[in-house]
Amino acid sequence: MASENIVNAEGTNALDIYCPRPTCHSIVLKRGAARNTVANTEDVTLPALSSPLRPGQESDTSAAGDGSSPFFWSVANMMVFENVGFSKPVADLERLPEATAQLVGRFLCCADCDEGPLGYESKADRKLWIASDRVSYR
Ligand SMILES: [Zn+2]
Repeated sequence: MASENIVNAEGTNALDIYCPRPTCHSIVLKRGAARNTVANTEDVTLPALSSPLRPGQESDTSAAGDGSSPFFWSVANMMVFENVGFSKPVADLERLPEATAQLVGRFLCCADCDEGPLGYESKADRKLWIASDRVSYR
């Protein structure tokens, strides 16, 4: 989806943000709740969806694809989310790119189905980020 359709004139999300899994209808953020930004996210490469967060599934971060997202939504604090889940600390996860391990504290995932990572919490300043291409818009 082109970014001009999902970013409104105020620079916030023009549509409600949902879990990307078609069978899951969990809302992550209401429209207007997140800000379009690229600050401090250039060096972060997220693992492929559903890896390595979901228990019992083979973790394979080498299959992350291009990994980079067009931009991240900045979320002011935890209370802004309608629903979100957190991974265990990234320090406990293996095979992450060095730059990602340096910047990411925890990954964010769907609170209902654990799909993710949808974004992350910065290690240094605890800021919250949702990858624009890892969520669905309605
Ligand atoms: Zn979900």
